[in-house]
Amino acid sequence: MASIVLRDVVKEYGDGFLAVKGVSLDIKDGEFVILVGPSGCGKSTILRMIVGLEDISDGDLEIDGARVNDRAPRDRNLAMVFQNYALYPHLTVFENIAFPMRLAKGRFSEEEVRERVTRAAETLELSEHLERKPANLSGGQRQRVAMGRAIVRDADAFLFDEPLSNLDAKLRGQMRTEIARIQRRLGTTTVYVTHDQTEAMTLGDRVAVLRKGELQQVASPRGLYEQPVNLFVAGFIGSPPMNFLPGRVDGDTLHLPLADVPLDERLRAAVGDRSLVIVGLRPEHVSDAELLEDDKAATGVTFETDVDVTEWLGAELYAYIPFETEPAVAAKLEELDRDLDGEGMRSQAVVALDAESRVREGDRA
Ligand code: ATP
Repeated sequence: MASIVLRDVVKEYGDGFLAVKGVSLDIKDGEFVILVGPSGCGKSTILRMIVGLEDISDGDLEIDGARVNDRAPRDRNLAMVFQNYALYPHLTVFENIAFPMRLAKGRFSEEEVRERVTRAAETLELSEHLERKPANLSGGQRQRVAMGRAIVRDADAFLFDEPLSNLDAKLRGQMRTEIARIQRRLGTTTVYVTHDQTEAMTLGDRVAVLRKGELQQVASPRGLYEQPVNLFVAGFIGSPPMNFLPGRVDGDTLHLPLADVPLDERLRAAVGDRSLVIVGLRPEHVSDAELLEDDKAATGVTFETDVDVTEWLGAELYAYIPFETEPAVAAKLEELDRDLDGEGMRSQAVVALDAESRVREGDRA
């Protein structure tokens, strides 16, 4: 197992394009770290630099305290699991898993190969399929074979590049749980690239959020959710996403499109001396007042609104609420919105209500 440290790592591609702009990240021995961000943010490039498939333009990469910028990929002892698994179609599951050991000619006796493959197959619940060819396996089983290969090598770390993106939703869910279980059992340092925030939130000890080659925040999933450092992270993490409401401060009142909110001590501290703010409202922090006990309703801010569209998902009901922003406020808020490339200020909010709610499309609720 190994620690992996990036210090001000830069990747410049040919024409001066900076795909990674000085990223520093300290991955501890045994830790499971997720790199997440929108397409093109540089996450795969970072992974490829760690494994040695891509040169590092500037900065340092350390594995277990040693600088490895110039070390060949095969000497880094890291195992990469790709999106397409890269299995050999003509080899059985057994031989696919054994492949890295066969490559290290003479290092492993036949007995050792057999023992390691058998053990990995047990861990991965593949024992019954060892004689099959990849074409006769399900997507999830192929994924496990690819992991088996990483396991038998005794690699110091596993690197995953969007390993589940080819699978259907159900299998993706199963494999996600399985990867988490196997990583916990083996305790191997793992770096995992995804653009899927559910994977990011459920798999990682810590999540690194990237945008346009820059690291935005590194924190536990809960830390990201509860204390995002900027609008980008706030909007990226969470599904449905956080609503951004334009707020105008007037004395002791915060005017929001949906309601006027009295500024208590906590809000006052957050607002400071600003006159315009963007208020982040998580969909689940709104309830259908009709379903609330009186004492609960009394502690919140109650508002009445039109409902555009509703979506019933079994456990919850999403209601879309249109709102308008005063033009003068909207213009000034654009400046605050630059973190989101202008995509942040929407003209509707989504709230996640209890599934029992009777709110319907076209209602005034
Ligand atoms: P995705 O989720 O779409 O795979 P990503 O975050 O993994 O995206 P990267 O593959 O790391 O993104 O690419 C980061 C940026 O670098 C992108 O703008 C991409 O177009 C660019 N890029 C990647 N490889 C090269 C290359 N060989 N030459 C030039 N530019 C490249």
